[in-house]
Amino acid sequence: SVAFLNGEFVKLSEARISPLDRGFLFGDGVYEVIPAYAGKTVGLRPHLARLNNGLAALEITTGWDDAHWQQTIDGLLAQNPVGNWGVYIQVSRGADVTRFHAYPKDVSPTIFMFVFPIATPPSESPQTVKGLKVVSAEDLRWQRCHIKSTSLLGNVMHFQQAVTQGGNDTLLYDNQGNLTEFSSANVFVVQGNVISTPALDNHILPGITRLMLLDMLRKQNKYQVVEGAIGLQQARAADEIWLTSSSKEVSPVLKLDGRNVGDGLPGKVWQDVIALYGQQKYDY
Ligand code: PMP
Repeated sequence: SVAFLNGEFVKLSEARISPLDRGFLFGDGVYEVIPAYAGKTVGLRPHLARLNNGLAALEITTGWDDAHWQQTIDGLLAQNPVGNWGVYIQVSRGADVTRFHAYPKDVSPTIFMFVFPIATPPSESPQTVKGLKVVSAEDLRWQRCHIKSTSLLGNVMHFQQAVTQGGNDTLLYDNQGNLTEFSSANVFVVQGNVISTPALDNHILPGITRLMLLDMLRKQNKYQVVEGAIGLQQARAADEIWLTSSSKEVSPVLKLDGRNVGDGLPGKVWQDVIALYGQQKYDY
């Protein structure tokens, strides 16, 4: 496939960066993953807004405006075969020989993009959806989970906890027993007519799928939508649990710690909501 690195389109297999890049040495950078189905992106504007927020938080300046990002993303998609792609964007602070922790002054950011194949999403094939099995664990990551940092070791270790137990992801809860998110996605819980998700703070990534879904649900005004604390015990007793992320959209969780969620099948609220998501996902 074709990638983008520091102003040029290059073969991914030929893309090279310095081992002194602070993305490599310190995890000093931010990233985004934007889904694109047959050339159409989902949530481009909010993804770019989150990227800009992350860059501002890290005091990394690229000089790129949204139009420049959009042109480059379109260019990258045009250079690759038509398909279902995750567009990965990473901006790190750049290469610096001093290996001094503080932000170096004369350094130019490394801007890297590539595409990776993503599965047919649930909204395009809800009948064939494979429900997820998850395990729970106390959230042991840092206090800046709202920044989409490339420093993902905390998330990687939590994800591996699920894999080791034969699961698809780990549902994390804080030291009060309240849910934060999954190691690679946000969480929603359904009880009756009420759809809940944890409120945003520094313990949670502000997911774009979460943002779009909340907006669609509020405009539809069919369910009660709540952003607030959800205890792990509440989640165990819920009718439905959903995992949301750009590549998995809204996916039903069928087992939590080996026990069925609801009746252990994709729920009726999920079936309703995935149709809504499919109808409106290109509108953002
Ligand atoms: N939380 C975490 C920790 C994530 O890594 C992700 C992205 N995979 C999400 C939530 C979901 O964010 P988005 O909907 O923007 O993909």
